[in-house]
Amino acid sequence: MSIKFEGRQPFLIAGQPVYSGNADVVTAPFDGAVLGEVSLAGRSDVDRAITLAIEALRRGLAPYQRAEVLDEAARLLTERRDILAEVLSAEVGKPITLARGEVDRAVSTVRFSAAVARTFAGQGVTIDAAPAGAGKLAYTMAVPVGVVAAITPFNFPLNLVAHKLAPAIAAGCPVVLKPAPQAPLTALAFAQVLLDAGLPGDFLSVVPGSPEEIGAALTADDRVAAITFTGSTRVGWLLRQQAPRKKVLLELGNSAPAIVHSDADLEMAAAKLTAGAFAFAGQSCVSVQRVYAHRDIVDELSNLMVGRTLAIGVGDPADEKVTVGPVIDDPARRRITSWIDEAVDAGAGILAGGTAADRVIAPTVLAEVPADSPLEREEAFGPVFGISAYDTVETAFSRANDTRFALQASIFTSDLRLALDATKALAFGGVLVNEAPTFRTDAMPYGGNQDSGNTREGPASAVRELTEERLVIFDQFATPRSAA
Ligand code: NAP
Repeated sequence: MSIKFEGRQPFLIAGQPVYSGNADVVTAPFDGAVLGEVSLAGRSDVDRAITLAIEALRRGLAPYQRAEVLDEAARLLTERRDILAEVLSAEVGKPITLARGEVDRAVSTVRFSAAVARTFAGQGVTIDAAPAGAGKLAYTMAVPVGVVAAITPFNFPLNLVAHKLAPAIAAGCPVVLKPAPQAPLTALAFAQVLLDAGLPGDFLSVVPGSPEEIGAALTADDRVAAITFTGSTRVGWLLRQQAPRKKVLLELGNSAPAIVHSDADLEMAAAKLTAGAFAFAGQSCVSVQRVYAHRDIVDELSNLMVGRTLAIGVGDPADEKVTVGPVIDDPARRRITSWIDEAVDAGAGILAGGTAADRVIAPTVLAEVPADSPLEREEAFGPVFGISAYDTVETAFSRANDTRFALQASIFTSDLRLALDATKALAFGGVLVNEAPTFRTDAMPYGGNQDSGNTREGPASAVRELTEERLVIFDQFATPRSAA
């Protein structure tokens, strides 16, 4: 790896660098190379960050200023595309071509947030629709919810930080961010982009540190109005429990299913689903994990998907031809490979992969994973999916729904009626027709139900969540006319 940050990196309190005696070494998941050392924040740092954020909130930032900062940030991100892609690729082992794609997506997340900052507003209220409201004027204002605490995962260390910070700024909320420990350098580089773009420093603190300590400091502090969290289901609901009086916005795990019916375009389904299963070694919350194919076409689809799987570039994430690099750490490798072994012991067939060399797990395709295996019931978050045959669409719908997760699901078919039925039958936050469940663009409302979360992200949805409606009523008759 060529990237190396010299000297201990500071964290940020109200936009100012802070060095501490306590630090974490950041290493590359692929080869263990040391990438840098980052100062860690403690409880008192979080307290100071919140105090200064409250001052920023009192002062406020006008919508045109928010939009100007975000537009300039989008420009700077584009200018710094190559270096940001290299840092994030090294930190989390994301293949470099996907890392560049992530920077491009972050640019669009920030641009969409600028557009929302310019256009999001309250609305007129027909208060005089009731007799008591006659002669009155009413409207709502969109008021920033307050100081926002953001907590982010490792897998999209730039674009998911952008999905937290940019809408918060668009809403006028100061933010205290706790980034994923695997990728603090990317988060700090993005924060620097915002500061260089003119964001007043006290609108942003970045506090890497012990999750329990930083998490407790953020959840316990009454001055934090909202927590926006993306990460695992376990931690998400724990935070919800710890902060019952705050707004807690959760974007959590999933086990994405895709149904491929007998009338589907199989080449298209195979291409989209294989890419959706293996990009970044399946470490996306909407990675394809469970494929249910009609019995008439299951063999043909399996062959097409296995062919594509065997052609995937595997190995060093710095290699332009690789799309499956390492998984994030050894516990993840052990968990994923043991779930593959468990499914095979329970009767699943191996169609491709099933092997691992260090942290690089070969893209794995399994046939007929038993319904009670962890690979069917839990989130795999690794380069593996199962393909199983179904005889009736009702069975396919019920297997797809047989999960505690509900983020995105998809169906491939050329029958419009079946597609419409699927949009009603599949109980997920998003249902995609003739597209992989992995598909996401950054303006769309994105999120799940049940154990997958309780909110929708995407700048327009997030700004709605991070603002409050304040109702204003004027009694026009009672308001004195001006002397002039
Ligand atoms: P994770 O282990 O839940 O960690 C996410 C963040 O939470 C990290 O910054 C982590 O810090 C922090 N954290 C852990 N315990 C905490 C506590 N007690 N209090 C406060 N913060 C705490 O998740 P991950 O492994 O990084 O990411 C993978 C998960 O994210 C998967 O489940 C995936 O599906 C989900 N995800 C969901 C979406 C979505 O939009 N729905 C998008 C991407 C990822 P430490 O690591 O220091 O503990």
